[in-house]
Amino acid sequence: MTRLIKVIFAPVRLIWAAWRRLALHTQILAGLFLGAAAGVAANAFAADATWVRWFGDNVANPVGQIFLRMLLMTVVPLVFASITLGVAGLGDLRKVGRVGGKTLLYFLFCTTLSATLGIFLVNLVDPGQGLDPAIRQQLFDTYRGQAQGLQAAGGTQFGINTFVNIVPRNPIQAAASLDLLAVLFFALVFGAALTLVPDTKARPLLAVIEGLGEAIVKIIDFAMKLAPYGVFGLIFVVTSRFGWTLLSTLGAYVAVVLVGLFLYASIGLSALVRIFGGLNPLVFWRKARVSAITAFSTSSSSATLPTNIKVAEQELGIPPTVAGFVLPLGATMNMNGTSLYEGVTVLFLAQVFGVDLALGQQVIVVLLSVIMAVGAAGVPGGSLPLIMVVLGTVGVPPEGIAVILGVDRILDMCRTIPNVTGDLTAAVFIARTEAGWKPTMVRAERRDPQPVAAA
Ligand code: ASP
Repeated sequence: MTRLIKVIFAPVRLIWAAWRRLALHTQILAGLFLGAAAGVAANAFAADATWVRWFGDNVANPVGQIFLRMLLMTVVPLVFASITLGVAGLGDLRKVGRVGGKTLLYFLFCTTLSATLGIFLVNLVDPGQGLDPAIRQQLFDTYRGQAQGLQAAGGTQFGINTFVNIVPRNPIQAAASLDLLAVLFFALVFGAALTLVPDTKARPLLAVIEGLGEAIVKIIDFAMKLAPYGVFGLIFVVTSRFGWTLLSTLGAYVAVVLVGLFLYASIGLSALVRIFGGLNPLVFWRKARVSAITAFSTSSSSATLPTNIKVAEQELGIPPTVAGFVLPLGATMNMNGTSLYEGVTVLFLAQVFGVDLALGQQVIVVLLSVIMAVGAAGVPGGSLPLIMVVLGTVGVPPEGIAVILGVDRILDMCRTIPNVTGDLTAAVFIARTEAGWKPTMVRAERRDPQPVAAA
C-alpha cells in the first residue's frame, strides 16, 4: 500500500522538487501565468460551476488576501522607519528640502507627461463616439448603484481640506486607518526634528528605528515567499469572475488605456530612466519585474511599496536613504498610470455623454488628473472617487463613471504597473544626482532579492 502511494505521488514530488529549485521571480511569474490561465479557463468553461466559486472563495481568495495583508501590515512601520531614517540620514534640513523638492518636481513632470499622452491618444481615437447609446444605458443601469456608493464614500469632498488632512491630528489614528500621506508627513517632520536634537539623544532612537526597519524587511521576506501562491490566488479570482465580454463592448476605450499605459511605460519611463538615470532601460525593466508583477496582481501601490523598496535596494543598488525616502513618497504621490487613465476616462465619458470639451478645458482635465493622481490612495480603485470629481468639474455627470466600472479592475491592475515602476525611475534619478549612485552599481547577474538592512 505504502509503495502504491509512493508511486502515485512520485510525479508530484518530482514537480515539487523542480518547482523549489526555481528562482523566486520565476515562481512569481509562473504563479501569474498559471493563475491567469486557470481563471480564464474556468471563466470560459465553468463560470457557473459551484466548485469554481468554492475554489475561489475558500482557496484562491484567502491565499491571495493573506499575501496582500502580509504586505500591507508592513506598510505603516516601513514608511515610518524608512522616511524617518531617510530624512535623518540626509543630514541637514536644507538637503532634505532640496531632495524633497527635486523629487516632487520629477513626480509632477512624469505625471503631467503621462496625462498629456492619455489626452492626446483619446483625441486621436475618439473611443466614445462609437458607443451605442443603448449599451451605454445598459452599463449605466447595471453599475449605477456602485457609482453612487463611490460618491457617497467621499467622491465629491475634494477641496482645500484634502490638503489640510495631510497633517494628521493624531499620528496613531492616521496609522490605524492606513492614511499613508498623513503617516508620511509625521515621519518627515519627526525625521527632520531628529536632525536638530543633540547627537547623544538622537543616536539611540535612530538605532531602534533601524532595528525596526530591519525586522520589517524580514517580514517582507516571509511575505515574498508566499508571493507565487498569493499572486496565483489574486489573479485567479479576478479572471475567473470577470465579465470578459464587457472588454469588447468597451473595446476602443480599453485599447486606448492599455496602449497609452504600454507606450508610457515602454517609451516614456524607459527614456526617463535612460536620460535622468543613465541606466539601460532593458536592465531597468529586468530588475523591476518583481515590482511590476506585484503591482499587477495587487492593484495597489501601497501593498507594492515593501517589494519596491526591496527591489530598489537589492536589485538596483539604490542607497537605502534614497529608496526609503523617494519610494514611500512616490507610492502615495506619483501615479503616472493613474493620471493617464484619469485623462482618458474623463474625455471618453465626455464623448459618451455628448459634452464637448474645448482645448482649454482639456488642459484643465490634464491639470486636475495630475492633482487627483497625487491625491488618490494607493489601493485598488483608489482613483475612482477622484475621477468623479473631475467629471463633475468639467460638466459630465459624475455617476457616468458607472459606464466603465465593469472593466475597471483589469485596467487598475495595468495602471498600477507604471505607478510603481515610475517611482523606481525617480529613485534612480535621485540616487544618481544626490547620493553618488552610478548605473554600474546595478547588480549584473540575475538573482532574487536577498534581505538587507532597511537603512
Ligand atoms: N490602484 C492604483 C494604485 O494603487 C490607484 C488607482 O488608480 O486606482 O496605484
